[in-house]
Amino acid sequence: IGDSKDFDREVKSICPFCGVGCQVSLKVKDNKIVKVDGINGPANEGRLCVKGRFGFDYINHPHRITKPMIRRNDAPEKGLNVDPANPWTHFREATWDEALDLASNGLVDLRSLYGGKAVAGFGSAKCTNEEAYLFQKLIRQGFGHNNVDHCTRLCHASSVAALMENVGSGAVTASFNEIEAADLAIVIGANPTENHPVAATFLKQFAKRGGELIIMDPRGTAMKRHAKHMLQFRPGTDVALLNAIMNVIVEEKLYDRQYIEGFTEGFFEFRDHIRAFTPDRMAELCGIDAETIRAVARDFAGAQKAMIFWGMGVSQHIHGTDNARCLISLALLCGQIGRPGTGLHPLRGQNNVQGASDAGLIPHVMPNYQSVTDEAVRELFRHIWDGTEIDPTPGLTVVEIMDRVYRGEIKGMYILGENPAMSDPDVDHARKALAHLDHLVVQDIFVTETANFADVILPAGAFPEKSGTVTNTNRQVQMARQAVPTPGEAREDWRILIELANRIGLDWDYDHPREVFNEMKMSMRSLHHITWNRLETESAVTYPSLSNEDPGQSVVFGDGFPRRAGRAKFTPARFTPPAEMPDDRFPMILITGRQLEHWHTGSMTRRSKVLDAVEPEANCSLHPATLRKLGVPPGGWVRLSTRRGSVTLMARADRSVATDMVFLPFAFVEAAANLLTNPALDPVGKIPEFKFSAVKVESAEAV
Ligand code: SF4
Repeated sequence: IGDSKDFDREVKSICPFCGVGCQVSLKVKDNKIVKVDGINGPANEGRLCVKGRFGFDYINHPHRITKPMIRRNDAPEKGLNVDPANPWTHFREATWDEALDLASNGLVDLRSLYGGKAVAGFGSAKCTNEEAYLFQKLIRQGFGHNNVDHCTRLCHASSVAALMENVGSGAVTASFNEIEAADLAIVIGANPTENHPVAATFLKQFAKRGGELIIMDPRGTAMKRHAKHMLQFRPGTDVALLNAIMNVIVEEKLYDRQYIEGFTEGFFEFRDHIRAFTPDRMAELCGIDAETIRAVARDFAGAQKAMIFWGMGVSQHIHGTDNARCLISLALLCGQIGRPGTGLHPLRGQNNVQGASDAGLIPHVMPNYQSVTDEAVRELFRHIWDGTEIDPTPGLTVVEIMDRVYRGEIKGMYILGENPAMSDPDVDHARKALAHLDHLVVQDIFVTETANFADVILPAGAFPEKSGTVTNTNRQVQMARQAVPTPGEAREDWRILIELANRIGLDWDYDHPREVFNEMKMSMRSLHHITWNRLETESAVTYPSLSNEDPGQSVVFGDGFPRRAGRAKFTPARFTPPAEMPDDRFPMILITGRQLEHWHTGSMTRRSKVLDAVEPEANCSLHPATLRKLGVPPGGWVRLSTRRGSVTLMARADRSVATDMVFLPFAFVEAAANLLTNPALDPVGKIPEFKFSAVKVESAEAV
């Protein structure tokens, strides 16, 4: 995929990678995508990053599964033991009927023998809203419980928990494009240049026209050169730093008294709590001097219009919910929500993680974040789902499900498009758990690391091979359109879900994703005034949309919050250190994350020629001084070890990493970052602490 001008049709759709949700024009010749251009979508205004422009050719990779596959009788014990050049070596081809019968009978047998809770499901944020909705419905209706989750658990579950608790909604309060009207922006725990590159261009333009950018991150991000303040604070001290900033605002009475009185609750308790976090006391802990903390506090409080952006550096901690609570409190203190150019914006990860969450692909809430514990909600779904009884007990989350699998309590899984054999923390534990399963059905486009453990693999359609709606980080519901057919016998996910649902005893009758969308509208107030036809013609509508003509509200909560008495809440946050601290054995800090060219576990981008050529091999980043101390040249090999495991890989010199820190991308199976990560969970969001593990770094030659 490159610069071809020779194409016979063009299809408007959405980029399959990050949550920015760039609209693309896919140029197609002979049923192959030959070129990709950015078009004028509300989020990208014609722009694309390297993944969106050059990353679509994964769909043509020779490793695509084009026929259903069944584990061979003579295959060795389940494990990550296949030849990467021949990933289906332990599987044989099957007909759809044979594969679907085996898949469904295995799940039904477990349900009959042990009850519905013997089976759990992971859905995918790479699916459309309709597919996510169908997946959670299949588990809830077919197995009678809520043990269904997806990768939101690994990225922004803590942010969503804090937003739901304190502002009454789990989505952003303002689109990132509102930055055009802002005076000041904080970007904390996020590296948009690499992870949300098109959103980053808007942030850079903001800084270039004189907007004040404040970056807070333990790593020095590329965006720091545009920043007025760069606070490279000690990893894991977010709560201490943010509370110290708010301490200044409270003590110097810089807060917006009128806004606090009119729109919030809990201020006085919060004010008393914050008094202990003086800049002088917190400076050493955070590694940021007290005067800088005061300067940032005064700048933020003095701004007319300010926005706060955050990423997984905030959320992926055992105190991730507390981190997000602090950011919400900071915005409330200064009345920076509900007006153009103000707001809270957690930058969502996958291209449809917002939509999949909205559609109920999470264990404690039904579509539109309606609690399973609420009888009125269960009655609504009893009505819509033909008498289905919804389990009133919130379900288990991703890591909790994998623990139950390990302990033998969950015996079967249906995994659609997720790759826990790469993405779970302490992934050796997750791989052992997957190997324990009596029955594993994987639906995907490649034999992923997780599919290695499957009994049945159902070949699915890639994102450009199907139509449906998706929702980006800005709350923009957009229409993705099928550009090319699924290869061989592969089918779109929604079609496979319907086949499987009917084989496990459900009576589903959908002929088109439009019918699923219309059913979703029956329970999702967020989709009011958004119709399939509107999306076909307008391509994107932001929710909430107030009328059939309204393109949607970019900024929400100007006249109150969807909480008791319309008020948002201050929730005090205590400082909690990371779950494991460096010590003599493991003296450094490991932070994991993404790289510009590679997406999550690499199953797509490592099969894209251009992206793989730019970043072909596993690497980690260390400060040049650390490399010198280790006696390792840039490009040399190091061994990283934590209490959970070790990996050996190439080291890159990177001054943005502190001398006691190593940054490790998680896309590379040959040096899987999650062999090292700590599975400790945030108690509220149940998100693992991917952003802090104690690690030992050595020269690989010395080992
Ligand atoms: Fe795709 Fe995100 Fe890049 Fe846009 S910024 S082209 S959505 S990866």
